[in-house]
Formats: sequence, C-alpha cells, structure tokens
Amino acid sequence: MYDLSNSPLIAGYRAKTPGSAALSKQALDLMPSGVASESRFIEPHPIYIKHAEGPRKWDVDDNCYVDYWGGHGSLMLGHRHPKVMQAVHEQLDHGTHYGSCHELEVRWSELVKQLIPSAELVRFTSSGTEATLLAARLARAFTGKQKLIRFAEHYHGWSDLMMAREKEALRGVVSGIGDDVLVAKDDDLDSVVRLLDQHKDVAAIIIEPIGANTGLRPLRGAFIGALRKLTKERGVLLIFDEVVTAFRVAPGGAQEHFKIMPDLTSLAKILCGGLPGGAIAGRKDVMELLSGKATKASGKGAVPHQGTFNANPVSAAAGVATLDIIATTDACERANRYGETIRRRLNEMFEEEKVPWAVYGAFSKFQIFHNAAKIEFKPTKFDPFDYPADTVKNDRTSSAIHKMRIGMLIHGVDLTGGGSGSFISATHTDVEMDDTVEGLRKTVHMLRQEGEI
Ligand code: PMP
Repeated sequence: MYDLSNSPLIAGYRAKTPGSAALSKQALDLMPSGVASESRFIEPHPIYIKHAEGPRKWDVDDNCYVDYWGGHGSLMLGHRHPKVMQAVHEQLDHGTHYGSCHELEVRWSELVKQLIPSAELVRFTSSGTEATLLAARLARAFTGKQKLIRFAEHYHGWSDLMMAREKEALRGVVSGIGDDVLVAKDDDLDSVVRLLDQHKDVAAIIIEPIGANTGLRPLRGAFIGALRKLTKERGVLLIFDEVVTAFRVAPGGAQEHFKIMPDLTSLAKILCGGLPGGAIAGRKDVMELLSGKATKASGKGAVPHQGTFNANPVSAAAGVATLDIIATTDACERANRYGETIRRRLNEMFEEEKVPWAVYGAFSKFQIFHNAAKIEFKPTKFDPFDYPADTVKNDRTSSAIHKMRIGMLIHGVDLTGGGSGSFISATHTDVEMDDTVEGLRKTVHMLRQEGEI
C-alpha cells in the first residue's frame, strides 16, 4: 500500500467525513475490515449512509452523493421509489414470512415470465450466488454430465464452484473443484471449441452476456450468437447470468436485446426491487427437474433445492412493484440514454482537460479506463474493442485510482468497482450528470496537484 499520510486529497476527505471515520473505527473491532462486503471497504475509511432518495444518498456528516452503486445494481428505479415503498409498507403490515405459498409470488413469477423471453418456469432463491449455483446443478442433472465452462473474469457469485480458477485456487475455496470447472478465454470461441473437443462431459456454459463484470470487458452480440449455436450443436446447456442485466439493459435483459434464448437464466438484484433474493428461470423440461411432482414417474427424484427466504413476501412486494414499472415505462431506455450521454460528456471533459484516460461502457453503465500504459488515443474516439482485453484493464491497486475514488467522494459522487464504475438508475437526471462531469473535472485537477496524472 502506498503512503496516504501526506496526501492533501486524503486529508480533505478526512476533514469532510469525521462521522464516518468514527463509525469505521468502531466497526474495525467488530467486523473484518469493518465491513459486511469487502467491496465496500476503502482507505482511510468508507462513508456511512443514513438516508437515500432517487439517485442520491446522504452520509452521517450530511454530505450528499450522486449514487452510482444503486444498491449493487439492484435499484433500477432509484432509492425509495414511492410505489415500491408503498408495496413494501403494505406487505410489512401483513407479515414478513409465512412459511407458506402466497399470492405475490404467483404475480412475481408471472411478471418474470412475461418479461424474460426464455422463462417458461421460475424458481426463486435467496441471492444471485444461489441462483447461479442452482442453474449449474440443474444443468448437471438434466444432461447427466459434470463439467461447467465459465469465462475468465466473469463473475457469478462467491460460491466455491463459481470461484474455481484454472491455475491457482483462491484461499479457502474447495480444492479440486476446479477439476469440474473449465475456464474459457473471454470473447474467444476457439477456446470454447477446444474445451468441448477435449472434454465430453460438459453440462453447461455460463456467461455474463454483456461481458465480464457487467461489461467491464464488453462482448459482441455475434460472440453470444456463435456460442448459442455451438452449445446447441454439442448438446450443452447455455446459462445466461443476468443477475445484473435482466430488467436493466432491456426489460427482458440481454436475451431480449440480443434476441438470443439461453436454456437457463440466473436473476437477482432488480428482480427484488432493492431487497434480497434471486431466481432462476428457463426451459420447462429443465426446470421441471426441480419438481418432486413432475419427476415422480422417473423414479430418480427431484434436484434438491431448499431455502428459508425463497420468494420472501417483502422482497416479492418490492419485486412485483418494480417489475410492473419496468414493464410499463421507459425506465431501462432512460437509464441507457443517460449512459450514452454521460460517456460522451466525460470523454469530452477528458479531452478538454488533456487527461489520457477514457470512459467506455454500454447500456446504463460507464467505466473509467485509467490507461496506465499511456496508450495514445482520443478519449471521444476510444473503443475498447480496438485493444487486447488485457490492455483495457485498470490496476485497482494504483494510487491514482484510489485517489480518484476519494476525490469523487469529496466532490459528491460515489463510484463503484474500486472507483471506476457505475450503475445508472432511471432516476438519474441532467443535474446528476452535470454534478458528475464537474465532480470528475475537479477531481482531475486535484490528481494533477498530487502528481497522479
Ligand atoms: N452474477 C453476477 C453477474 C453478479 O454481478 C452478481 C453480484 N454482483 C452475482 C451473480 C451474485 O449475486 P449476489 O450478490 O446476489 O449473490
């Protein structure tokens, strides 16, 4: 870790956030890193939020932020959407968990089926991590094969199965699980063909359909189309991990946008309108393996799946209210338009300020590329597809990125992904856009003074 002690920028952040500093100090004795999710940790301390509304949130020191975390991508309609809040309040008055079936789960699955093109049946889970695990289990049961192909750097939750790596195991991840997980090269169909030629026991391929880490490294629709064709020919199931992209890139997710039907889809985040939960959806003949009733005649039993909080009524209330709005308004389109405009405006600002960085991305996301290798390009003309995948990658351990994140917090903008990413909601307006562009301009000035640019 580089030395932060004599940075005026860090000192400015400390001066603005004494209440957060005090809470963080207390939390460090209570939780590892003082946080509940490592992605929320930041030096010298995270911000502590007490209230949020639409595209903004306020910390315990009364600083206001344009929020690009959007509940880790789950708040497509922004914080405290009135209809979602009303639905949640009403459900709270009826009960939080019946341990029984309820009407809202029927309406909820109906909406999923209406919106997600490949959804014939739906099974709710308690998180996205559980959804991808269940999709893989179901694929193994359906095909009678064992292995899973995933793409390098695509994220599918934190389970042992989805964290398996090709070479070095991550600490604590079940050893040997990598034998059943084959890692293909991103955006490289030949690498998939090679794996399928070598291994005859592949049950499924799982992919983030707009690219690793929600498009950090974007994918072309043509690649997804070729993958669909290949998996069909080889009798391998195709799983779209649409935990982030469903109800975001289009109401029906990436599969609606690309017009490509996967066999199974994992869902979470926007599905539950900012409350916990998840689901898988897909082909009836595959999904029915979860049914004791449907599998009875086979004598083999159902694929096991339980879960205390599956289709929790409060999450269902938020989910139904959210999906109703996604289905009947231009929420996804509006967020996509904001994404397009802010990417252009931030690049124009980089050109004005002569910063050798670029902003790219697709749909309702923008990514800031810090260009440590100092590749020459005009930010407004930057296209990540023009460069090898490894080139368009930020070094998250660099002091410039860290200080940019802190600088943006000082100027009232909370970015994701170690300070370079964003989830845009349908409530972000021109005011938030102006604040973001000017916030980044001022941050760039500060970084120049710190010798980081
Ligand atoms: N898949 C993708 C593509 C994700 O982005 C995430 C979470 N960021 C997950 C799965 C895991 O979802 P959860 O955090 O709800 O377990």
